[in-house]
Amino acid sequence: MSLLFASRISRFYLTSSGRYYAIKNVSLAFPNRGLVAIKGKSGSGKSTLLNLLSGLDQPSEGKVFFNGSTDISGRLGHEIGMVFQHYNLVEGLSVLQNVMLPARINGGSKKRAIALLKAFGLAKFVSKDVRNLSGGEKQRVAICRALVCEPRVVFADEPTGALDEKNSETVMAALKEISKKRLVVLVSHNEELIDRFADRIIEIRDGTIFGDSEPLHRTKEKQTNPPKKHKISWIGPLLVRNLRKHALKNVMCFMAATIGFSSLLLSLGFFVGSTPAIEREQGRALHYLSATLSKESETTVPGTKLKLIKKTRPSMEESKDFLADISDCKIVNDYSFFFPDNQVFQVEGEAYEPTLFSPVWDLTLEEFGEELLIKGEAAKDNSFSYCLANTEFFDRYGWNLLGTTIETSSRSVVTYDDLQNERFVDARLQLVGAIKEFGFLNSPRIYYSYQGLEEELAKIDIDGLDKTTCIRDLVSEAEEDSSLASYGWRLFLGSPEDTTRLFQKIQADDSNIKADSIAYGLRTSFLSLSEAFMASLGLFVGIAFAGVALILAMASFSSLVEGRKDNAILLTQGATRRDVVFLYAIESMLLCVVSATLSLGICQFLQQIANQFLKNEFDISGIINVPYASFLGVPWLLVWGLVLIGAAFGFLVSFIPISFARRHPLSEELRDE
Ligand code: ADP
Ligand code: MG
Repeated sequence: MSLLFASRISRFYLTSSGRYYAIKNVSLAFPNRGLVAIKGKSGSGKSTLLNLLSGLDQPSEGKVFFNGSTDISGRLGHEIGMVFQHYNLVEGLSVLQNVMLPARINGGSKKRAIALLKAFGLAKFVSKDVRNLSGGEKQRVAICRALVCEPRVVFADEPTGALDEKNSETVMAALKEISKKRLVVLVSHNEELIDRFADRIIEIRDGTIFGDSEPLHRTKEKQTNPPKKHKISWIGPLLVRNLRKHALKNVMCFMAATIGFSSLLLSLGFFVGSTPAIEREQGRALHYLSATLSKESETTVPGTKLKLIKKTRPSMEESKDFLADISDCKIVNDYSFFFPDNQVFQVEGEAYEPTLFSPVWDLTLEEFGEELLIKGEAAKDNSFSYCLANTEFFDRYGWNLLGTTIETSSRSVVTYDDLQNERFVDARLQLVGAIKEFGFLNSPRIYYSYQGLEEELAKIDIDGLDKTTCIRDLVSEAEEDSSLASYGWRLFLGSPEDTTRLFQKIQADDSNIKADSIAYGLRTSFLSLSEAFMASLGLFVGIAFAGVALILAMASFSSLVEGRKDNAILLTQGATRRDVVFLYAIESMLLCVVSATLSLGICQFLQQIANQFLKNEFDISGIINVPYASFLGVPWLLVWGLVLIGAAFGFLVSFIPISFARRHPLSEELRDE
């Protein structure tokens, strides 16, 4: 059995007029060494035949055997060397890198590469880019490349076709020399050169063999195939070359990926930072320490599915029980029956819209709140003669109200001992100071002293009630479901920590005793707002990433198409298609790793700008807090995680689509148009 033989092979192309046979029913056996030339006119099918023999193309009919196997293309680069008319060197790589390419892919030595380059008189060009060589030099480099893995067969298609006479001579002599140890199959239409150098001449006409100087060649020995060592490290120099070659495209992909990663980081920063930020900021409000407490009981309306929730005032014991772990908390009467939370007011006879009147325990701001006072002064004492208002109030009604007197009159009817008392609580509160609270979602609010209100109420007489009993006692002793009791208690907490504890209780919601506060309401609104914002942010980041993925995939795809010929050359040197896909996927992976790393840097800066903006706009500081140092309890998780995610993302978005790129026979991809 010969090392190489073709058994009744044909290759046809489908044309509009049916099958066109470029090669028809050819059988050939080749010796293990020597120079075999295939000659014939242009268009006779020489190249087609050579491509079938070398595995660059598959026969439509028949089989080609290489050492007994039909897997020929798998031997390219190490057992089969290729020399082309137009050299097919990888431009952008140096002479040595080109010659080393099959050695790097299949396992071969650099020593041999250098020795070959010396033998072919190319020693002084080793680090020169192959683009800058003459035709003769290029062809000698190509021969060195074909020989570096010591192949058993070298195929050469018109190797002198683009060379002048002198260079043709050199190349033919070189091929003749190497054919002493191996088979060289050469295609040429140069009769004169063939006659001088070839050991055997096969002539081909119209796709069939017309003449063969030594047709019955047979050799007996079957050789074992050398093991192929497939490596991937060869990608290095090509990666560098491609990164340079696609510089502009890569810069744009890099920017897109950086925007994507930055938006991911900032969103994560918002996700991590917004709740703690609101928790830090919410205490900046005068109403922060006040709350209400009531009891809810559910009753089903008999015969229906309706449920009624009845609100009553819990007993003092129940209330204390509920507030057991809150160290400092005053539980006092709720007087909203006499002085509601929402009232119209007048200033110098002019009426204003209903506004919130919120109680504070200490309007002199001695313990908490003095840092909130930005204009005017705190109340001199806790009597019912002063009030403060927040900036939202002044922004709404005018700063000229500072210093004026706010007047309200709230009417209530108290029935005692069957005597109907119509009573008015008249407030004349001097608006002495302006409070700058945590402004986000805050509404205009007037603050009055709760102690002052209680003293004021004590002065009101109720018909039928003896002189020593006042409204305070009346309310304290009222039935739990009487309107006098306002169905609950007022709470005044001693410290922000207590408020936090109360919030936890409200959140737990595991008792029929319900606490409520403005601060908690604000917090809930903010949290649901930021939840909604986070959901849309997530959507936005998702869309951004889909865009980045498409951009990267398109860039890889276009690079792959643009580098079609180079890729085919790599395949002739022993690379697999998967290796080539890797080459492009790794390029996009590198881009993503670099942009992920850069995003980590620039987001520190972007975070500051965004936070400054949000501070100005919404009065919350540090709302974006990218967790660089520790995430989910793992130190530096974000840094490593993002780089790894970036790598995987970059790799996959290129790898997956370009794996599906259409494949053509190598011979077609290598054709010079
Ligand atoms: P040459 O002997 O000049 O190398 P080729 O082997 O390149 O000739 O071509 C042999 C014949 O096959 C030519 O007539 C050519 O037009 C035809 N041929 C080659 N490739 C194709 C193709 N992809 N589709 C159709 N016809 C083709
Ligand atoms: Mg040809």
